[in-house]
Amino acid sequence: MNIAILGAGQLGQMLALAGIPLGIRARFLDPQPEAPGSMVGPQRVADYSDHAALDQLAQECSLATFDFENVPVDAASYLEQKIPVYPSPQALAHSQDRLREKTLFRTLGIPTAPFQPVDSLAELKAAVSRIGLPAILKTRRFGYDGKGQVWLRKAADCGAAWHELGGQDLILEGVVTFRRELSLIAVRGRNGDQSFYPLAENQHHAGILRLSRPADSHPALQTQAERYGRLLLDRLDYVGVLALELFDCEDGLVANEFAPRVHNSGHWTIEGAVTSQFENHLRAIADLPLGDTHLREQCAMRNCIGTLPDRDAVLAIPGAHFHDYGKSPRPGRKLGHVTLTAPDASSLAARLEMLDQLLVDS
Ligand code: AMP
Repeated sequence: MNIAILGAGQLGQMLALAGIPLGIRARFLDPQPEAPGSMVGPQRVADYSDHAALDQLAQECSLATFDFENVPVDAASYLEQKIPVYPSPQALAHSQDRLREKTLFRTLGIPTAPFQPVDSLAELKAAVSRIGLPAILKTRRFGYDGKGQVWLRKAADCGAAWHELGGQDLILEGVVTFRRELSLIAVRGRNGDQSFYPLAENQHHAGILRLSRPADSHPALQTQAERYGRLLLDRLDYVGVLALELFDCEDGLVANEFAPRVHNSGHWTIEGAVTSQFENHLRAIADLPLGDTHLREQCAMRNCIGTLPDRDAVLAIPGAHFHDYGKSPRPGRKLGHVTLTAPDASSLAARLEMLDQLLVDS
């Protein structure tokens, strides 16, 4: 079975790798030549809105998916007229616009930061007086890794923030006080079956995910997260893997955003869970039974940002698994990741310390 993947980044690469034992072969569309996915499956180099390229993919593949959320909704909708696209273009549209996304959370009763759309400096000032300070002004679209965001700490910051981001669709959000950042990787099949991985705890540096590991959390927190996950999956009639990013606050969980795709905070599932998020995404979209999401053993995933560590030295750490995406180095770029597995918490901590000695982020 051939599937089309719009986007051939590292997520597409890992999806394609997971597909091979299942008899699923990936074909990519990505405007960047020699994208990471092209090491695993043929890549057509064209714009996402290139109808001829989409027509060809539709002829070669029985269904389509995507590996990043900024795929134009029009391209996904065009393809959907020819072959099934999972998750649906409608789910994609919700995740591309922070206002729609937060409105959906609110409609479903999922707690989220106070927010208000902003289209002028006067609206920004009004939103600040309603929501209070500190607050964050964000672009509604195309924000990632903390880009397109300005913090406002005093009323006088409005002018500078508007100067920096004004002219685009914006949203003002109240700042949430949280203990830690968590994410829930959820999966829903074409028949409506659902499954959830244990919550992941995520640490960022300079807006980029650095470390992700199954969270040490009370079962009640997992139950709460899964309730929110289920509400979202069902409302969107979702098919595939979805990542829900959450703040862990004193009064419970607060949703920040969701990604309609496999997610960096689920990479540890490759070696750490019975079935990886990549395999489960493919199982979901290909109408296969979902796989077991339980942990195999203790694990943690560390991103390699800007530079890759020495592979041989990493592999000398017991339980280390090296993932090189084959990308050229650039500061702030995710080039690969290392997952460490261990039989218990203290050996995992010791292995993480060994790994830290080898990693230099840039
Ligand atoms: P985002 O692009 O929305 O994922 O934001 C990037 C990071 O900024 C998050 O991982 C949080 O650390 C922080 N952040 C975003 N929104 C808020 C908020 N409303 N309150 C507090 N921190 C936030």
